Parts: sequence; structure tokens; C-alpha cells
Amino acid sequence: MKNRTSPINHHLSDQLLMAYAAGSLPEAFSLVVATHVSLCDECRARAEAYEAVGGAVLEAETAPMSDASLEACLARLDAPAPAPKAVNGKAQPRGMFPSPLAQYVGGDLEAIRWKPIGMGVRQAILPTSKGASARLLYIPAGQAVPDHGHRGLELTLVLQGAFRDDKDRFGPGDVEIADEADQHTPVAEAGCDCICLAATDAPLRFRGMMPRLLQPIFRI
Ligand code: ZN
Ligand code: ZN
Repeated sequence: MKNRTSPINHHLSDQLLMAYAAGSLPEAFSLVVATHVSLCDECRARAEAYEAVGGAVLEAETAPMSDASLEACLARLDAPAPAPKAVNGKAQPRGMFPSPLAQYVGGDLEAIRWKPIGMGVRQAILPTSKGASARLLYIPAGQAVPDHGHRGLELTLVLQGAFRDDKDRFGPGDVEIADEADQHTPVAEAGCDCICLAATDAPLRFRGMMPRLLQPIFRI
């Protein structure tokens, strides 16, 4: 994301970062998380901390802890953070897409085949594994996306421009996290077409999955 001038104001939740660190998010959500993490130092640091803790918990659970393994475990916690899954924004190739997204789609904007969905809004569904779906949305400046509710979780990451809805304003790098309780009408700000990466899931599956993912971590 070149030309980012404003700071990121809307971040990922701890739950999402924990599940991402555990490698258990559906692919579509992982893509959104990895893309945000590549742009956001704050969330990258949190994700790395969860990766370190999660690794220690798994080791502790799979074997009785001898003094040696305890030492190894503690050493691991002290060890430098593992390399981020996503490449730092500064290292990204030229283009608008941050590198996790560029790698995923195999190119930049020019690689996207948009399909009109009405009122000038276009979308491109990205191929992902089951459990959640990901799409790119292109919303002309000043245009509204139809009012909608959510059957499950929806993550929307702004790549270019900005949108507003009933809750707040979301600019480049910001993530909006919406769920069943949210009904909203996102409107692209005037002056710049808005491009977003959005992921949604099947509600029951995700609701059931999150507690299972988080259990080992909460048991610490
Ligand atoms: Zn963040
Ligand atoms: Zn929505």
C-alpha cells in the first residue's frame, strides 16, 4: 500500500490474531489478516507474541514436561520472534496490493477480473478453501453498497480510498469487523474510488470453531 498517509485506526481483534497465529483460520480470513498484518506493525507484533505463546502451549501439552523441555520451552519464549508470515509493507513489489494479497492473486490490480454487481460496484471472488469466502470490492467514489446484515463474520480491509458506515470511517489499512449484530450501509468517500478486500464465513461453522481454537490458549 503505497501512498498511505493516515495511520491505521481499526485493527484486528485478539481472537482473530490468536486463531491466525494458531494457523486455524479459514483461508479467506487468513488472507485478510496476513494482508493487514503486513501493513500494521502493531498487529504484527501481537501476532508474533501469540505465535510464541501458542508454540509453547502445544509443546507443553504433547509431552510431559521434563526439566529439559521446560528449559527449551522458556528458551523458546525468549528467542527472537519468528519471521513474520507476511512480508513487511516496505518490501512489497510495486503496485497497490500489499504483498500477501499480490502473491495470492498472482499480480496487482491488472490481474483482477471484475464483475459488475450493480450501481457501479464491482467484485472479484478470490478462490479460497471452504469455510469462508474472499472477494475484492470496487466501489466508485460516493457510491453506497446496499444495506446489509451479516449471517456470520465479515472482515473488510480497505486497500484504497475510504468508506464510512453507521459506525465509523475506514481508510487504507483499516479493518472493519462486522457480525450478526451489525447492519450497515457502507458508502465510499467522495474523491477516490474505494477498493476493499472482504471475507465472510458460514456462521455456525465459525461460531463453533473459535472457542475450540482459543481453548488451549485460555488454559494458560
Ligand atoms: Zn493492526
Ligand atoms: Zn458488511
